[in-house]
Amino acid sequence: MTAPDPVAPTPPSSTPPTTPPSLVEASLKGLCPRCGSPTLFNGWTAFADRCRVCGLDIAGFNVGDGPAAFLILILGAIVVGLAIWLQLTLAPPFWLQALIWIPVTLGGTMWSLRITKAALLVSEYRNAAREGRIAP
Ligand SMILES: [Zn+2]
Repeated sequence: MTAPDPVAPTPPSSTPPTTPPSLVEASLKGLCPRCGSPTLFNGWTAFADRCRVCGLDIAGFNVGDGPAAFLILILGAIVVGLAIWLQLTLAPPFWLQALIWIPVTLGGTMWSLRITKAALLVSEYRNAAREGRIAP
């Protein structure tokens, strides 16, 4: 085994990739749409103000209520459909339905809210979408 060469330059660990990530990859991993670093979020669903690697102004984007609307329609339909199917198939007691679907709904919401927020922000970045302005 050889010791590492102390003179050889080591690449910085935070070097961003040269190509921007795909929409799916950036959404699933919370990657910055410009540099691909995992700096999009500052918490589970809270966006960072700025990318710590490339300086992209993340706070300048506004995804609004779009992700919540998607979740209400899609996740709500899935959970209600599965709950109805379970009731008609096995007829479990109400407490068991609540024990199953409340955690599934909460977990699914938190997981998919992060992904849909990232997807909308990355789409805004790629399409250069901004709030409408009326020219004077
Ligand atoms: Zn970045």
